[in-house]
Amino acid sequence: MLSDIEISRQAKHRPINHIAIKLGIEASELSLFGDTKAKISLDILNRLQGNVEGKLVIVTAVTPTPFGEGKTVTSIGLTQGLNAIGKCATACIRQPSMGPVFGIKGGAAGGGFAQVVPMEELNLHLTGDIHAVSSAHNLAAAAIDACLFHESRLSREEYVAQSGSDPLNIDAKQILWRRVVDHNERSLRNISVGIGDNNGPVHDSGFDITAASELMAILALSRGLKDMRRRIGRLILALDTQGHPITAEDVGVAGAMTVIMSDAIEPTLMQTLTGDPCLIHAGPFANIAHGNSSIIADKIALKLSEFVITEGGFGSDMGFEKFCNIKVRESGRAPDTAVVVATLKALKANSGLESRNDINLPDMERLVAGFANLKWHIDNVSQYGIPVVVAINRFPTDTEEELQWLKSAVAETSAFGCEVSNAFSEGASGAEALARIVVSATEQASEFRFLYPLESSLEAKLMAIAESGYGAKGIILSDEAKQQLSQIKAIGLDGLGICVAKTPLSICHDPKVKGIPKDFDLPITQFKINAGAGFITALVGKVMTMPGLGVKPGYLNIDINEQDEIVGLA
Ligand code: ADP
Ligand code: MG
Repeated sequence: MLSDIEISRQAKHRPINHIAIKLGIEASELSLFGDTKAKISLDILNRLQGNVEGKLVIVTAVTPTPFGEGKTVTSIGLTQGLNAIGKCATACIRQPSMGPVFGIKGGAAGGGFAQVVPMEELNLHLTGDIHAVSSAHNLAAAAIDACLFHESRLSREEYVAQSGSDPLNIDAKQILWRRVVDHNERSLRNISVGIGDNNGPVHDSGFDITAASELMAILALSRGLKDMRRRIGRLILALDTQGHPITAEDVGVAGAMTVIMSDAIEPTLMQTLTGDPCLIHAGPFANIAHGNSSIIADKIALKLSEFVITEGGFGSDMGFEKFCNIKVRESGRAPDTAVVVATLKALKANSGLESRNDINLPDMERLVAGFANLKWHIDNVSQYGIPVVVAINRFPTDTEEELQWLKSAVAETSAFGCEVSNAFSEGASGAEALARIVVSATEQASEFRFLYPLESSLEAKLMAIAESGYGAKGIILSDEAKQQLSQIKAIGLDGLGICVAKTPLSICHDPKVKGIPKDFDLPITQFKINAGAGFITALVGKVMTMPGLGVKPGYLNIDINEQDEIVGLA
């Protein structure tokens, strides 16, 4: 079979304005980037106000493994399959970060015959939104450090005379705003800034990957430019010497940050291999951020299509939980159905049993043991009150016998239905059966429920996620977390939701524990205030907000060939 980039390159793209017109977007609402990409003006939402919204389907998965479960492959394949059976369906996915593209995971345009094309444009700079997020984020870091520098060198009178405003009395030990870059840069996790003569008080800082920036979450959760401006205004950059928060508004940088991001607020329209619409917008990771594409893109797509397929990152304990408890609360739009993606390989790898042979070979014992993980994710999603469809993403090595066993095992669960998806190898036609069952699932009556009410205390909300969301016995707060919690309460932010940052590789905090972890307490090491995004991030165990590169990173394969074409992107 051809590689993903070969399939993408051989595909005949339709001009993107044709895709837009077919979907119902007017020429005046499009900013074209060549004929493969176009940004969509938010004016469209005023025009479409009266349109009835389509059905919203969220794609999630079992606990991820290094083999790739294929949520994006299934999301794009399902969109292709729905269009093939005569429905109007749009995919809404996140923009890939260059960290994973050049790190270990590779791109995030789908794969095989279920891809967004051109995949290299999606996987690299696209229309520059990630750069805009990095740039706006780092402007705020420069601004707070410049204020600190001038406050430290000037008397209060001089400061007022020269700046025209009162000093903020920034506490150099309480600068909460770090820097970001869209690469896996381990060596920048912890740095000192202000070193050298006359560069301001030296203080600790560090870099996170841009996908973990609060601004990325704000981009994904904003309902419009004014909402984004408000959220940026209230994000907390530092504390003053009295322990009071200093916001981007206080520093006077919120307007400029919004201006840097004013184009990024428009989603980018691309297409699948079969010419179906796909909106790309925002890119928060699901382990260290809330892991879902934007509310704006979903809204536009829902106004224009019968079905909108979106993807929450990692397993259902991660992106899906945050989709439900963070994104739905902000958008007011609950999903109609969830698709849980499973593969034979992923279940075997989640079995907790040692591999006796190649993971691609049949192994009923491991499959049966690993099924418990899928059952856990079906039950986890079901507790939100929506119908669940299991999509078995077929790999070329899968045997019919194992696939049939898995289908019959799923039939015994609370899942509404189950289908094998052949989208990777066959494209649209390989996902028609899945598309049909998803259509039926969205026609079922459902009653969406949150996991916790926003009004309860932060501890109670965290407890609800730990107990009902992961099956933990309880939570244990580190001393640092306890102290931060009282600070958060003192600032009056107890009413925010929770975004848990934890490893995606296990349902619990320990990546080595496979299957269904039991009898564990969730260790909360730190809290981070994300007042602009509207949640408190709880860091669990040893989670990193900046990935590192491995000894054999993805970039080793990437180059330009004799024909000046990109090779090696996967
Ligand atoms: P996720 O969105 O769950 O992280 P992706 O859809 O990005 O997963 O897929 C991860 C990797 O696995 C990609 O390189 C993709 O091409 C590959 N992959 C997914 N499904 C299949 C399949 N059915 N057969 C072969 N490779 C697949
Ligand atoms: Mg994906």
